[in-house]
Amino acid sequence: MKIKIIYDNCKSDENFKEGWGFSCLVDLGSRKILFDTGADSAAFFSNLQKLGIRCDEITDVVCSHNHADHVAGFKDILGKLKAGSRVFLPKKFPSKKLPSTLQIEIINDFREIGSGIYSLVLKGGLFFYEQALLVETQKGLVVITGCAHPGIVRILQEAHKRLKQPIHLVLGGFHLFRNRQSQIDEIVNQFKALNVQIAAPCHCSGSQAIETFKQAFQNRFYKIGTGTVLTIQNS
Ligand SMILES: [Zn+2]
Ligand SMILES: [Zn+2]
Repeated sequence: MKIKIIYDNCKSDENFKEGWGFSCLVDLGSRKILFDTGADSAAFFSNLQKLGIRCDEITDVVCSHNHADHVAGFKDILGKLKAGSRVFLPKKFPSKKLPSTLQIEIINDFREIGSGIYSLVLKGGLFFYEQALLVETQKGLVVITGCAHPGIVRILQEAHKRLKQPIHLVLGGFHLFRNRQSQIDEIVNQFKALNVQIAAPCHCSGSQAIETFKQAFQNRFYKIGTGTVLTIQNS
């Protein structure tokens, strides 16, 4: 499996356009799942092209939540998908007037959306829900989050409760950019208590939390940014 970072606050090289927001492609071979669509549609499509991702090969779109830094390219990409492509949205996400050629599915809490692929939806705030993507590998679960508004530890606890599998990799926005160091330390401790193997915080995790995870996880910390391609061996 490959994870390609399409949009993030940082970039891995000069060719990409960075910006506050998130998007990645989870490439499972037969399924190519686009997770979120960044904060600027033009930059999103430019990065998509530089990563060699064709719109017509995307089989699924998973939207974490309806915040501007995650949905800028959403409407535009829907028009470029093959008929019958699946679009997974968390409940309460605005879903009117989406193309009728697509299969729009609203997730209320938890569902298997493909073989070994799961959507987990938790309350993210007063008026919205946030969807995380979970993918089984032989090493354990890969958990991908947009902003982790429900709480990154809560998402991991819920994923573990639902699937009873070890957590291999957690990647995405952990939403810790406003947290104090003591709170960040506590979250790192909870990751260790949950036996998370690899941490790849980006986007709204904040530089302080990213540095703390780097120190704590050492070679089990992945520095990622726009343009990063991670390969996860499934054996
Ligand atoms: Zn965000
Ligand atoms: Zn958000």
